[in-house]
Amino acid sequence: MTGQNIIEKARRENRTLLTEIEAKQLLKEAGIAVVETKLATSKEKAVAISEKLGFPVVMKIASVDVVHKSDAGGVKLGLKTKAQVRKAYDEIIKSTQKAFPQARIEGVSVQAMAKQGAEVIIGMSKDAQFGPVLMFGLGGVLVEILKDVSFRIVPLQPRDASEMIRDIKGFSLLQGYRGSDPIDVANLESMLLKVSTFVENTPAVKELDLNPIFAYKDGAVAVDARVVLEDVA
Ligand code: ADP
Ligand code: MG
Repeated sequence: MTGQNIIEKARRENRTLLTEIEAKQLLKEAGIAVVETKLATSKEKAVAISEKLGFPVVMKIASVDVVHKSDAGGVKLGLKTKAQVRKAYDEIIKSTQKAFPQARIEGVSVQAMAKQGAEVIIGMSKDAQFGPVLMFGLGGVLVEILKDVSFRIVPLQPRDASEMIRDIKGFSLLQGYRGSDPIDVANLESMLLKVSTFVENTPAVKELDLNPIFAYKDGAVAVDARVVLEDVA
């Protein structure tokens, strides 16, 4: 499905939240690196997809009604065997049904397990005065507790991308810390610019979260994505 089709389908279904699979598809089309993610509508399909992607895999609840998948017990990491995949499929559906009895469940997404990197986030929200604004920050506990983030107005210039990464207090953590490799900042800059272009070209998107992105010494990849569309009257 093309990006436009994904948006139209959500509109027809009267929803503003895209699933993780839809959001990643949209971003992939915009040239933004995302972990390959496929929908399984049965246990055996989940096994087949896992074998194709290669173990280990990650499985997550696929529901248009679940925003925070972990809260629903809807994320299982590091699944190494067919048996683990089958078990995870049932467990994810069961715990989501328990946490959100009303949730419509499409199935379970299956994706490659990305190797651990430095966690960063890119977000977009629309300000009444400034319009779309991009946010960059360190992921995980740091962003939640320290709110160590920076903002720039869309469209970003290359210089904005460069500055907003260097503006965060934790920037030194990305430059190599206690023997860890420095991460590829140029790649993150280019990701910010691609997100800026995507946002400019896709006014139907109201909010966007790539949380987290794993950043490496070469490259970076978004392992989770959330897109909220504008309401249409
Ligand atoms: P939530 O909807 O709760 O935000 P996420 O998709 O972000 O769910 O998954 C929760 C956590 O699991 C992420 O913050 C990340 O640390 C880890 N994770 C998710 N997807 C992957 C993946 N494909 N590879 C490796 N780790 C992942
Ligand atoms: Mg997430």
